[in-house]
Amino acid sequence: MSTRHEAGTAGPHHVLILGAGYAGMAAAIQLAARGKRREDVRMTLVNANELFTERLRLHMTGTGQPVARLSIPRLLEGTGARFVRGWVTAVDADERTVRIDDDRVLRYDTLVYGLGGVADTVAVPGAEDHAYTLDSVHDAESLAERLGRLGSGTVVVAGSGLTGVESAAEIAERHPELRVVLLGRHAPGAAMNPRAGAYLRSALDRLGVEVRGGVEVAKVLPDAVELAGGERVAAAAVLWTSGTRAAPLAAAGGLTVDERGRVVTDATLRSVSHPDVYAVGDAAAIRQRYGVMHGTCQGGMPTGVHAAVSIVRTLRGGQPRPFRFGYYHTPVSLGRDDAVVQFTRPDGSPRRWCLTGRLAARYKETVTASPWPTYARMRKAPASGAFWPRGGRFTREAP
Ligand SMILES: Cc1cc2nc3c(=O)[nH]c(=O)nc-3n(C[C@H](O)[C@H](O)[C@H](O)COP(=O)(O)OP(=O)(O)OC[C@H]3O[C@@H](n4cnc5c(N)ncnc54)[C@H](O)[C@@H]3O)c2cc1C
Repeated sequence: MSTRHEAGTAGPHHVLILGAGYAGMAAAIQLAARGKRREDVRMTLVNANELFTERLRLHMTGTGQPVARLSIPRLLEGTGARFVRGWVTAVDADERTVRIDDDRVLRYDTLVYGLGGVADTVAVPGAEDHAYTLDSVHDAESLAERLGRLGSGTVVVAGSGLTGVESAAEIAERHPELRVVLLGRHAPGAAMNPRAGAYLRSALDRLGVEVRGGVEVAKVLPDAVELAGGERVAAAAVLWTSGTRAAPLAAAGGLTVDERGRVVTDATLRSVSHPDVYAVGDAAAIRQRYGVMHGTCQGGMPTGVHAAVSIVRTLRGGQPRPFRFGYYHTPVSLGRDDAVVQFTRPDGSPRRWCLTGRLAARYKETVTASPWPTYARMRKAPASGAFWPRGGRFTREAP
């Protein structure tokens, strides 16, 4: 197989962004907008698809509901940024190269690594082979197809975190003919305040979802899951939502990663092993004073913006600044007309306030629909995307 080398580093500074998810798109749009009049920078964005994956809606795709078609190249039109559709197969952080679809090699001066994460199907035997995931549109569509064909039977949703709850609720609402069982180590909504948690559990109950907390799935079989202790729960389909991990590409490419394969960053979001690499979104292990950030869209978009601002600042001869972020909410859909929104402290712990019911469902939909218009706005006014809650004392440097 011959290898095509493209986009060599001679000439303008080449910023290569991998992944056009929530974080990578934020980085690309910011960089395109802020570097518009600069002859000395050019940018390439690589993504598996031309259409933007609204990961926040994959439980809708997984139950056969149509979602908008959002074209990434169209949004980038006129910005001078180049879009490459392709699958990244290797990164060489020492050589500063990225391999795409095995036969193309792109060189970079600065890399923004934003390839996201996937459900951790390797931790439990059989999950990789027998369970569905919501890792991509393709995976979600496969689930939708399976659910549509079942007619009756049990669907097990493994993982009682927020993705598991949203998915179980959506499946139960869309497929009343199916029995939906939600299995997890913790009671769903356990991390919320008592009122929000109770509301969430009563909504699952109303939808007919059978919840079993305090259980550990030990094995996934073709027609069942086996719990620790040996009990089997028969299942015509299993959706795996438990745990997350990043693609092995970063580790294989020589970047320092954590136990989940995420690129370990310094305070400015640069890789601790390769400072010419910024890591953003779910693919990054970013430490704040309250701990390592967990993967969310609310935190991912600011990381992308911060990386782009830092790159432009560095090109002007400045120094990147530390990244600070504090959470502010946990919105959870419970079918299409119901939801619960838990407002949080910057470290993610629940406040007393929450929204429930239709108002919460409207809030959740507004949040879910907001990234794309935000990108369009940032194209014209990049500063409009550069504000986010910094977390105050929760993220201030320790003395
Ligand atoms: C059902 C569901 C509901 C959620 N709800 C919420 C919510 O309400 N609020 C919230 O904050 N978060 C929510 N999340 C989490 C949120 O979606 C993620 O934290 C967010 O998508 C992370 O953004 P990202 O840019 O890091 O990665 P992603 O959005 O996953 O984007 C990664 C991109 O990289 C591309 N890619 C990956 N590997 C390759 C490769 N090898 N080559 C080329 N391209 C590649 C992918 O196609 C994708 O476009 C939810 C997740 C799910 C699954």
